[in-house]
Amino acid sequence: MDSQAHEFDVAIVGAGPAGCSCALWLQEIGLRCALIDQAPVVCSRLDGFSFRQDWVLGHPDQALAEIAQGYAAHLQRQPGVTLHLRTEVLQVRRAGARVQLSLTDGTQIRAQALVAATGMRPRHPKLYFGAATPDARVLDAISLTQQRAALRNQNILLLGGGDNAVENAIYLNELGNRVTLWSRSALKAGAMLVRTLQQRTGIECRIGCELPAALDPRADRVVVRSAAYGEEAFDQVAVLFGFEPALDWLHTLEPDPRLGAAWPELFYAGDVSQRLHPCVHSALADGVTAAKQIQRWIESGAVNREGPAMNAATPLKSPWGNRILTLTGLRFDASLGILEHEHEAPQPIQVDAELNLGGQSLLPRDDEIHHVLDYRKVRQIIISECTAEHMNLLESLIGKLAARLMQLPGVLGVRVKIAKLEIFDDCEVAIRVETGQW
Ligand SMILES: Cc1cc2nc3c(=O)[nH]c(=O)nc-3n(C[C@H](O)[C@H](O)[C@H](O)COP(=O)(O)OP(=O)(O)OC[C@H]3O[C@@H](n4cnc5c(N)ncnc54)[C@H](O)[C@@H]3O)c2cc1C
Repeated sequence: MDSQAHEFDVAIVGAGPAGCSCALWLQEIGLRCALIDQAPVVCSRLDGFSFRQDWVLGHPDQALAEIAQGYAAHLQRQPGVTLHLRTEVLQVRRAGARVQLSLTDGTQIRAQALVAATGMRPRHPKLYFGAATPDARVLDAISLTQQRAALRNQNILLLGGGDNAVENAIYLNELGNRVTLWSRSALKAGAMLVRTLQQRTGIECRIGCELPAALDPRADRVVVRSAAYGEEAFDQVAVLFGFEPALDWLHTLEPDPRLGAAWPELFYAGDVSQRLHPCVHSALADGVTAAKQIQRWIESGAVNREGPAMNAATPLKSPWGNRILTLTGLRFDASLGILEHEHEAPQPIQVDAELNLGGQSLLPRDDEIHHVLDYRKVRQIIISECTAEHMNLLESLIGKLAARLMQLPGVLGVRVKIAKLEIFDDCEVAIRVETGQW
């Protein structure tokens, strides 16, 4: 089997904007690459996205689908890129100093470097997407985006409270649909979107309310059952619970015993690396960056040596998830404030902190404290930063603390709240900041 493998410098899985841009650059550099995708065409994820790209520099009047056709046409002219479409990765393993991919169409591909550019996919909780065949009336973020322009005079339920859910609620309401927005917790959407939502009539908001226990799609409607509202019927239901990296295909990858779980030949590009605001432009840029990293890695000769990884390859043996470290209700005394009595003695404060550690394997690479962020250390840093010296303003203290927490290894984003607990008899005063990626 190994002898029939097709040899390349780089294998890229995922032919979206990131994979295509990476392939183009690798070819420019003189490296041969295989570009693999399960879909029949490249950039298939952008099919049907017919809205104008007013916010994409240089393409104000074009639809995303049109832009994607341009990417596809450009890529197909490249002689150094071999396309393997309508196929998926069955297995990834190491074959000497190379990686070997077995594809579902029987092809074997061997390469020095592997790029994961498989993007994100909408979360499909089993409770709502249990059926083997997706139901046309129960939508996710992608199918809703593809269909939403045609939805008129419908009774639509949107589950979720992030940007995507709120933006769709406003859009669908503008088209004359009756919209119910249902979120288990407070809305997480941006302030501007929430303000627009609040100004609109005709959108029923159920916020902080336990979600439906079941969706039962019928021929002409979806029956929704919940503890709070009993049995109701909607024409369409969209489940908008965010996205997760499409990396299942990497789960067959065995960690190299010499390098722990790291795979120095594995690079990531595009949405899969969980951008703050994923879009075609950041995906294109990621593709270029990955190509340049690979070039440097190959030219440095590291390809034939043992690590370290240049791209901080992450262990992917187990499923993937976003890890957030939370410390809540940490109370201690700090010298803080401009009032006379605040200068004289420290006062009790409470700190709540959330640290976004980004996409991680659900299982740590081993059960060792040295390989994760130690929360004892985080707790100690919070106390030390807040008690090091007198600060006049809560704003200064929280800014200093957030900046310090952002410096911790692996921390992508920080949310902190500091409350003065006894400043007034009748209320607590607090400030929250959010910085970095969320
Ligand atoms: C609803 C919605 C609306 C959006 N609107 C905009 C917009 O208006 N403007 C904008 O700039 N961006 C928009 N985006 C974001 C944009 O689509 C992405 O940022 C961009 O497509 C990311 O490119 P990518 O190459 O990283 O991933 P993708 O475009 O997702 O490409 C990943 C590719 O990997 C393939 N793949 C996945 N798994 C496998 C596997 N196991 N084996 C083989 N192939 C696989 C897929 O078929 C796909 O072709 C939107 C996204 C969504 C979901």
